[in-house]
Amino acid sequence: MSNSVDDSSIEKIFPCPVCRKITRYHAENPHRPFCSERCRMIDLGQWFEGDYRVAGEHADPEPPDED
Ligand SMILES: [Zn+2]
Repeated sequence: MSNSVDDSSIEKIFPCPVCRKITRYHAENPHRPFCSERCRMIDLGQWFEGDYRVAGEHADPEPPDED
C-alpha cells in the first residue's frame, strides 16, 4: 500500500476551453477547467447568450425603426 497518489497534488496541463491558454489543472485552481474567472464567465455568458437568443426571437420589445 504505497502506490496511493494524493489527487490534490496532481497537476495537469491543459488548454483553457475558452482562450486556449495553457493552464494548470490543479485542485487549488478554483476556476478549473478554465484558466481564470474571466474565462469561466465568458463560457457562462455564451451559454446564456444562446439561451437568450432563442427566447428573444419571440419577443422583440424594440423593433428597428425602418423608414
Ligand atoms: Zn482562458
